[in-house]
Parts: sequence; structure tokens; C-alpha cells
Amino acid sequence: MAEPLGDLSRTHRCGALRQEHVGQTVTLMGWAATRRDLGGVIFVDLRDREGICQVVARPEVSKEAHASADRVRGEFVLAVVGEVARRSPETVNPKLPTGAVEVLAREIRVLSEARTPPFPIEDEIETAEEIRLRYRYLDLRRPRLQRNIALRHRVTMEVRRYFDEQGFYEIETPFLTKSTPEGARDYLVPSRIHHGQFYALPQSPQIFKQILMVAGMDRYFQIVRCFRDEDLRADRQPEFTQVDVEMSFPRAETVFGLIEPLFVRLMKLVDVDVKAPFPRMSYAEAMERYGSDKPDLRFDLPIADVSHEMANLGLETFPGLIMGGARARALALPASGGISGTRLRKINEELWLGRIVADARATRRPLFTLKATDEAVAALVKKGAHEAAARKLLAKAGAAKDDTVLVGVDTPGPLSMAMGILRLEMGRELKLVDEKAFRFLWVTDFPLFEHSSADNRYVSLHHPFTSPVDEDVARLESDTAFVRAKAYDLVLNGTEVGGGSIRIHDAALQARVFKVLSMSEEEARERFGFFLEALQYGTPPHGGIALGVDRMVMILAGESSIRDVIAFPKTASATDLMSGSPSPVREDQTRDLGIIVVKK
Ligand code: ASP
Repeated sequence: MAEPLGDLSRTHRCGALRQEHVGQTVTLMGWAATRRDLGGVIFVDLRDREGICQVVARPEVSKEAHASADRVRGEFVLAVVGEVARRSPETVNPKLPTGAVEVLAREIRVLSEARTPPFPIEDEIETAEEIRLRYRYLDLRRPRLQRNIALRHRVTMEVRRYFDEQGFYEIETPFLTKSTPEGARDYLVPSRIHHGQFYALPQSPQIFKQILMVAGMDRYFQIVRCFRDEDLRADRQPEFTQVDVEMSFPRAETVFGLIEPLFVRLMKLVDVDVKAPFPRMSYAEAMERYGSDKPDLRFDLPIADVSHEMANLGLETFPGLIMGGARARALALPASGGISGTRLRKINEELWLGRIVADARATRRPLFTLKATDEAVAALVKKGAHEAAARKLLAKAGAAKDDTVLVGVDTPGPLSMAMGILRLEMGRELKLVDEKAFRFLWVTDFPLFEHSSADNRYVSLHHPFTSPVDEDVARLESDTAFVRAKAYDLVLNGTEVGGGSIRIHDAALQARVFKVLSMSEEEARERFGFFLEALQYGTPPHGGIALGVDRMVMILAGESSIRDVIAFPKTASATDLMSGSPSPVREDQTRDLGIIVVKK
């Protein structure tokens, strides 16, 4: 039976008690993490947000408290009044911050009983994530998730403080709105009043934040939910949170100079010192050297272009391939990594051929491998290679003695992607990644467009409001694929934690970009007419960025899934297992909305 709280007030958090409290009478409230009956003396570990404290119920201190402790079970909610005492030296628990003290219970009230939880409320559990998500309120009680949520709070508070100090207004923008293109599918909300018409949940507040600049707000930020209906992964959720930022009259450098000190402060929250300015790298260089637009710089292992060397090696197949447009790219695996011949064969069979190449839409050509030893070179010469060319190849790949060089030969785009994946895989496998490092990088000068072969037209790499680089504006139509954007991504340890751009602030240029995107004037007017109109009423040059809160906190917390830093996340199939959504609705509800549900 539950007892009322009555006139009790909490004096301390469970995790706060230390030696200095010895002798004080305290009132604690929390959950019974464990209960042990050692023949007459009952020990209860009482847990709250701040930690765990040992409560001792001895009949000679209080019969009633002992009787109450006797009926306590795991996860009962208790109020405990008692005196803080020093533990005897042999019972001190050095693993607990409160381990030198305990509370001698004078009174224990059972405020709430609890059913036996389906999994232990501890950090190290093997419970399937589905069960944890179904009982998220129990999962969230585990110390690790409590820590993650607390860290998330500290991050968002620091963000708010920072932007306020920098003169930014926090402004909310609507959720029931019109589609904003960020490259994903929209979540739609049917209108009851206007049958057949829909609101779109924002993929981002992009258009609104730009309009706020037209409206003279000068500096805007918001910690905002965005909605994208796309395939989910460990670092993607259908609804996710961004720090959304926009400012008037910035250059890209202004944005970098704003965001870098913010990250220096955020990293301090987890006692990590990072130095600004962060390094910058063009998209072209990132793709060339790291095979990725978000290179993980916690380890080196650059990719080298060895097309020329492979063509001149003297082995038959390569010159033809390279003349035909293929490139050759190499990774020099350090000898210290100790990669074995068997492993190399496996990489070729499973990893390179099967997975990577399938992803990258390339042909199924095995890697060419060469060890940087005299014997390996001699063996290759026997097969017809020129020795000097083989040594040039090793040098260009940056191989030291005994390193193993892996060379992929294929069409440039897919090859570069595949080598990037291989680089990451090898970095992890050979333990080259400095797990303690936090390496930020700005990736700049993205292409403005990419060609979609599926639709046979150009699409925006970021979003259609991104400004082309000034020098490239003239060749927007003539040299579309080569037009660079004033866009930038912020990368941390190989994860994109933010992205933004300087925007188009001229209605005529914006109309030209829509045209390049094969959008008719009529469609542009229908979708963005209000925005194009706003641009004509005096628009300041403006730009901004959006930072992914979930990913940021995930990295700071040392987690590998954003679900572990979101209070109520959805599964990979976009369901909420706790509330059971999505779920069917009553027929009168769909009728009100003018919707007929077609069953799949
Ligand atoms: N709206 C963009 C995004 O959500 C960010 C930006 O361009 O500021 O990725």
C-alpha cells in the first residue's frame, strides 16, 4: 500500500551525501535500487537522478522503519528520514561517491509500490532495444541514460546562453507549414477545414529563417524539431533536433567564427579542450584524399591517386582501363597494423567485391595489392612489371618498408567512395583511430548541384536556396556540374554535425537556380511564390547553419546511437514502441479529414 508524502520535504539528493554530512538528519526520496536482508539488518540502495546512497534499517534504531524496509522491493519509491553515519572502514564502497557514508533510517515511507521491472535498472544490460523502448521510462532510469539526458540539457542550455550573448533572438517558426525542400520526403498533415489540402511538417525552418532576415531580425536561432520521412539509421530519426541559426550580412568566415567558439565551450562540458580555428578542406580535396565529404581525421591513412603509376606499371590490363576513364587509388596500410595475407584475401572477396562495390555501383574488380618489400617487387617484376615503376607506385602511395599497398581501379566517383569506406574500415581494424581525439573540420566549396541519373536532371546538393560562388554565377546554365556553392559542413570525427550556407538573396538569381533545377516558373510560384515575393522587398545578404543536436550530444556522450541521447526516440521503422504510434484512427476522424484509407 502506498503512503502519502505528508509533511516530508526532501533535504538532499541521494547522490549528494558525503562525509561532511555525517551527524545530520536528512530526508531522501528515490527508488529502491536493491534491497538486501542480512539477518535482521536491511540494506536498501536508494537511487535518484544524482546517484545512489545506502540506507540501513536496523530494528534497534526504528522498528517501524525496519518493518517498512522489510516490504520494500525493487523500484518501490521511498521517503527515508535518518541520520547520516560514517561507514565502518571495511564496509566503505570506493566505487560510489557516497560510499563512505550511509543513512540510518528512522522512518521509511513507501510512497509507491512497483511491479517487477522487465529488465534490471543498471547500465550493463543485454536487454533487446525493443524492450527498452517499450518501457522507456524504466530505461531512462538507468544511470547512463540519466547522464546522457543531463548532458543534453547542459548542451542546449549552453547553446541558448551562447547565442543570447552573441545577440541572437530565439524565434519560433511554425510546424504546420508548407514543404521546405531538404531532400527528404515530407510528413504531411491533412487539413480538416480544407479537404484535400495538407500542411507539411518542416524538414527544417529554412524558408522561415530566411524570411526573418528579410524581416530585419538580423540574428536568429532556435533549438527546433525537424521532420524528415526517410530511411533511418543509427544516426537518423524521423524527428530530430537542430540548433538552427541565421544571420544578416555574413561571409562564410563569419559563420565559422561564430560556431567555433560555441564548440570550444560545448566540448568543455565534457572536459575536452579543442582549439579554434578548425581546419578547412574543400569538398574536392576531401573526396580525393579521404573518399568522403566528411573525413574522419582521427587517423591519417590518406588515399593517393596512383592512376599514372598504375598505367605505367607494365602490367597489361591497367593502361587500357585508365585510358578508358578509370582511376587508380591507393591506401598504404602500415606494417605495424600487421594485416595478414588471409585477411587481405578476405577483404578482396567479401568487403571490396561484395559490399563496397555493390554500394558504390562499380564493377567487381579485385584490389591490386603490393607489399613494400624487395621480394614482393621482385615477384611483380617476374609477372612483367617494371621495377622502377613499381617503386614509384609505392612511393606515390606513401608506403614505408613492409607496408601493404591496396589499389582500387575503377570509375572515379564510385571508386573514391569505395576507397573512403575501405579507409574507415581499415582505420578501425588496424586500430589507427585515436578514440580519445575530437577532430573538427570544415568542408567547403561543395558543388551546388549533383546530377540525378534517376530523374535525369540536376538536384541541389544542399537545398535550392544555397548561393553559388560569385565567380561561378555566370556559368550556372552552361557549366552546371562545376558550379561551386557557398556551402559548408562541420564534421566531427567523421560525422556531419552541421551544415549551412550563404544564401541567394536576389530573387532573379533564385529564379535562375529554380530553372536549372528544371522547375517551371509556375511550379516555383506555386511552391515558393511567397518566398520569391519576400526576396523582392529589400533582402539583406544572409546565411547560416544548422547543427544536429542529437548527433552532437551522441558524440559528446560517447554513444554510438542517437537513440541513446533522445528521451523518446523511434525505432528504425519509425515507430514509437511505448505509445504505440503510428496507429489506426477512428473512421469518423478520417471522414472529418476527407480521407479514405487504402489498406496496404
Ligand atoms: N536548413 C539546412 C539543414 O537543415 C541548414 C542550413 O542551410 O542552414 O540542413
